[in-house]
Amino acid sequence: MTRVVVDREVCMSAGVCEMEAPGVFELDADGVLQVGEVTDADAVETAVRSCPTGALQLVD
Ligand code: SF4
Repeated sequence: MTRVVVDREVCMSAGVCEMEAPGVFELDADGVLQVGEVTDADAVETAVRSCPTGALQLVD
C-alpha cells in the first residue's frame, strides 16, 4: 500500500499539504506534521508535488 514519508529535517510546516489533502495531513499544535493513511491518492499526489520544500515522498 502506498504511504507517505515526511522528511522532518526539511519540512517547514508551511501547511500546503494540509490544504491539498486535509484528511491525510495535519499540523499539530506544535507545528509538527502528522501523516495519516493515504485515503485519497490523487489529493496526496497533488500534496506531494505541491510541497515547497520537497519534504514529502510517496513510497510503495
Ligand atoms: S507542504 Fe511540505 S513543508 Fe509544508 S507542512 Fe507539508 S510537508 Fe511540511
